[in-house]
Amino acid sequence: MKDKLNLLAKSLDRIKFQESLRYYTFTKSLVIAQSLYIATNLKELIKALEIAYELGIPTFVIGSGTKISNQKIAGLVIKNRARNIRIASIKGKVGINGIGLEEAMVEVESGVTFEELNKFLVTNNLEEFAYVDSLKATIGGSISLNPYLIDIVQQIRVWEDGEIITIDMANLNSLKQVILSVVIKIKAEKTN
Ligand SMILES: Cc1cc2nc3c(=O)[nH]c(=O)nc-3n(C[C@H](O)[C@H](O)[C@H](O)COP(=O)(O)OP(=O)(O)OC[C@H]3O[C@@H](n4cnc5c(N)ncnc54)[C@H](O)[C@@H]3O)c2cc1C
Repeated sequence: MKDKLNLLAKSLDRIKFQESLRYYTFTKSLVIAQSLYIATNLKELIKALEIAYELGIPTFVIGSGTKISNQKIAGLVIKNRARNIRIASIKGKVGINGIGLEEAMVEVESGVTFEELNKFLVTNNLEEFAYVDSLKATIGGSISLNPYLIDIVQQIRVWEDGEIITIDMANLNSLKQVILSVVIKIKAEKTN
């Protein structure tokens, strides 16, 4: 494994070895990662997954680390900071005051926290997401746990064994797949 990790460090900048996750997790976990890479965007996340896969290095993706307990993690830990959000499409009705927004499909990268998502939704006159255990948790770390999120997810883009595929909730296998982004349906904020 050590040789493989040395090869990994040649292909990926900023690899840290035997790194405590204390500074990268909300829980200030004392888990030691055999190696750690911080992916600052989706491209870097995919690149790290690809290279580790090619080298046969096990990977463990973390979001905000609100659920990481104390243990050692072998292989490569990837801290996911892919944080883009965009409106993919909108639905509305044309009235005397122009187009009245009814709902929107919002594409959210997996490293986005509920706090960041809610800021975006409020700014875009969409309903805030109210049902969360922790605002600091990421979408990627919560998707199979939060029943309200499960309800509004339209599609999920995942990385699995070197391939990027788009699936629905029923086909999500969180043990094998890394969540890259999701499309969620959000209603417009009520205006009275
Ligand atoms: C006050 C509070 C209450 C909580 N209540 C609950 C609760 O009731 N039930 C519950 O289950 N949890 C609960 N949690 C734990 C936690 O908030 C949630 O589980 C949260 O969804 C984890 O998100 P995270 O970004 O912190 O994930 P992390 O802690 O970083 O990761 C959690 C798991 O998700 C995986 N993961 C992270 N990102 C991805 C990705 N992109 N693709 C694939 N897998 C990924 C990780 O590998 C790990 O196995 C609570 C936390 C707090 C602080």
